[in-house]
Amino acid sequence: MRFYNATRFLFPSSLRLRMFTICFIGTHIPLLTFAGWQFTSGMIDWPDLGVVLGATLIGTVFTLIGIDGLLAPVRTATDAVQSLEREQAEALEAVSDGDMLTELLAGVTRASEATKVRVAALDMAAHRDPLTGLLNRRGFLARAEAAGEGAIALLDLDKFKSINDQFGHDAGDAILQDFAAYLARGVRKADCVGRWGGEEFAVFFPATEEGEAAAILQRIARRLGNGLIERPDGAAVTCSGGVVAIEGEPLSLAMARADAALYAAKRSGRNQLRVGDAHLLVE
Ligand code: GH3
Ligand code: MG
Ligand code: MG
Repeated sequence: MRFYNATRFLFPSSLRLRMFTICFIGTHIPLLTFAGWQFTSGMIDWPDLGVVLGATLIGTVFTLIGIDGLLAPVRTATDAVQSLEREQAEALEAVSDGDMLTELLAGVTRASEATKVRVAALDMAAHRDPLTGLLNRRGFLARAEAAGEGAIALLDLDKFKSINDQFGHDAGDAILQDFAAYLARGVRKADCVGRWGGEEFAVFFPATEEGEAAAILQRIARRLGNGLIERPDGAAVTCSGGVVAIEGEPLSLAMARADAALYAAKRSGRNQLRVGDAHLLVE
C-alpha cells in the first residue's frame, strides 16, 4: 500500500490515469535518456531519434490500451460489490473521492459489515420466537445443550384453548406475551427461557439442583395463580409444569422426563408443578 498511497496525489480519484502517468514516464525513460545523451554529446542523429520516438509512442499506446484492459476485472468487481451494497442500502455510504481500488476496498469492507448484520438478523430469526421474543425451541436447545448440567422445566398454560375459543386468538397472543415476559423476569439472569411451542415454555437452570429450580418456578406459578395475569373475564391464567434434574443424560431424555412430569401435573388437576417423582402443589 505504500507506493499506492505515495502516488495518490496523482489523479486521486482515477487509478487508470495514475497508472497511465506512471507508465508514460516509465516508457519514456529510454527515449529521454537517448535524446539527452545525443544533445549533450552534440551529435544529434535525427533519423535514430525519430525511430526511437516513434517506437516509444507505439509502445506507450499499446501500454495504455493494455492497462485499460487489465483493469476491467477491477471495475467489474467494484460494480458487483456496489450492486451488492445497494441491496443492503441502510448501512452504506458512497465513497466520494476514491479511485477504483479505494472504492473496491471500501465496498468490500462495507459489504462484509452488512453481511455480518444480515447473518446476525438471520440467526436471530432462526433462534427467536417472533411473538414473545424468547428463544424458540431450536435456540433454547442450542443454549441449553451448550450449558451442561442443571435442571430443566416444561411449563404449559392451563386450558389455554378456551381463552382462544372464548376471547379470540389476539387475546390468546397477548396472554402468551405477558406470560413470556413474566417468566423471563421471574427467573435468574443465568437461567434460560424459551418458547417450546404453542403455549408451552421451557426453562433451563444451569448448575442448579432440582429443588432450587422448583422453588423459583413455584414462586412464579403461585403469583400467577393469584391473578397476576388475567383472562379477559377476570379469571387467573395458571400454568402446570414438570421439573427434573439433568442426570448425565442427553438433554432430549431430560426434556422427555420433564414432559412426563408436566403430563402428571395436568392429570392431577393443573395449576401445579411436578418435581421429578415428587408432587409439589402450587397452592
Ligand atoms: P391444557 O390445560 O391441557 O394444556 O389445555 P390447553 O387448552 O391449554 O391445551 P391444548 O393443547 O388443548 O390447546 C393449546 C392451544 O394453544 C391450542 C392452540 O390453538 C393454542 N395456541 C398455540 N399456539 C398459539 C399462539 O401462538 N397463539 C394463540 N393465540 N394460541 C395458540
Ligand atoms: Mg395448555
Ligand atoms: Mg400444550
